[in-house]
Amino acid sequence: MMREKKMQIRDIGEFPLIERLAETLGHAARGAGYGVICGIGDDAAVLQMTPGYRLLATCDMLVEGVHFDWNYFTPQQLGWKALAVNLSDIAAMGARPRWALVSLGLPPDTLLPRVEGVYHGISQLADRFGVTLVGGDTTSSPAGTVINITVLGEAPRSRIAYRSGAREGDWLLVTGELGGSAAGLACFQEGGEPVGEEEVTRAYLTPWPRVREAAVLMNSGLVGALNDISDGLASETAEIASASGLGAVIMEERIPISSSVRRIAGHLGYDPLRWALFGGEDFELLLTIPGGKGAPLQARRLARSLKKATGTPLTIVGRMLPAGEGIKLEKKDGTVQELSERGYNHFRGS
Ligand code: ADP
Ligand code: MG
Repeated sequence: MMREKKMQIRDIGEFPLIERLAETLGHAARGAGYGVICGIGDDAAVLQMTPGYRLLATCDMLVEGVHFDWNYFTPQQLGWKALAVNLSDIAAMGARPRWALVSLGLPPDTLLPRVEGVYHGISQLADRFGVTLVGGDTTSSPAGTVINITVLGEAPRSRIAYRSGAREGDWLLVTGELGGSAAGLACFQEGGEPVGEEEVTRAYLTPWPRVREAAVLMNSGLVGALNDISDGLASETAEIASASGLGAVIMEERIPISSSVRRIAGHLGYDPLRWALFGGEDFELLLTIPGGKGAPLQARRLARSLKKATGTPLTIVGRMLPAGEGIKLEKKDGTVQELSERGYNHFRGS
């Protein structure tokens, strides 16, 4: 009998592998009380939605060599992140994630513990948010690992937040702090000696999706537009502005950047502001609330209730402008510049 640790998935074959993975999922694959009429094991999952709710669907793919490097990620961390990026997209609609399907492309010499580790990471995070794994697909890949997760969520029809929901004069707010994930990646890429990196490597490897924050924000009834920050503050602000037919201004001095991100940027010779604006993968939420006279009080109240419920801060970073104003950055010295640069673009490679 071959030692399990050395076992490659080609030694097991597709069906026993799927069975083992389903076992690994444990609680995260069970259906009782989770709206799962039929989960893993038949040709398709059969799911029971909450009556009167809308169904939300999203998927995100992580490709070895493009989105991740096995030198940085443990299998658990990769599974966690693959699910987290999808939960973040459901949160960014103000909705609740409920079910997930996992598609894997695996080189035949992949070690069994690696695949099981990925499933441990997925199920850890799924459990935290009551998400049930209801299926997937497993195929061999000639070169490199590919993992694609589809997440289904739901929300009452009047409680879905679109990018197009911003109005002129709205305030633009962001949860948490920005630049951590780009700082984490830079720490890996630059190697070198550690400079208190744990906070940022965690932000890069195992982001915490803002699902609970989204629920609190939606409950306030104040949210106009909502988006998650997967490609930097500049790019996501531009998406809200464009979908809403508006411009926007971001105030540089208000962008929340942690002291460790600033310290690491200084140490490695990077600009922390560029990480926040263009770095991406922070998976914080970007939202608008109505401007006007009551806005300062409303913003303070919302920040207080979010902090109390989730521990996550909320910061005003800008304002929605009339159409045609473009996306602007107000510098600390009061000068305003056009922000034409955006985040990462796959086919342009920049
Ligand atoms: P089919 O050939 O009908 O597509 P599969 O053999 O691909 O069926 O899948 C059998 C069952 O196992 C299905 O319920 C499918 O959703 C599930 N499944 C397959 N691969 C995975 C996976 N990587 N993770 C979770 N469930 C999976
Ligand atoms: Mg199949």
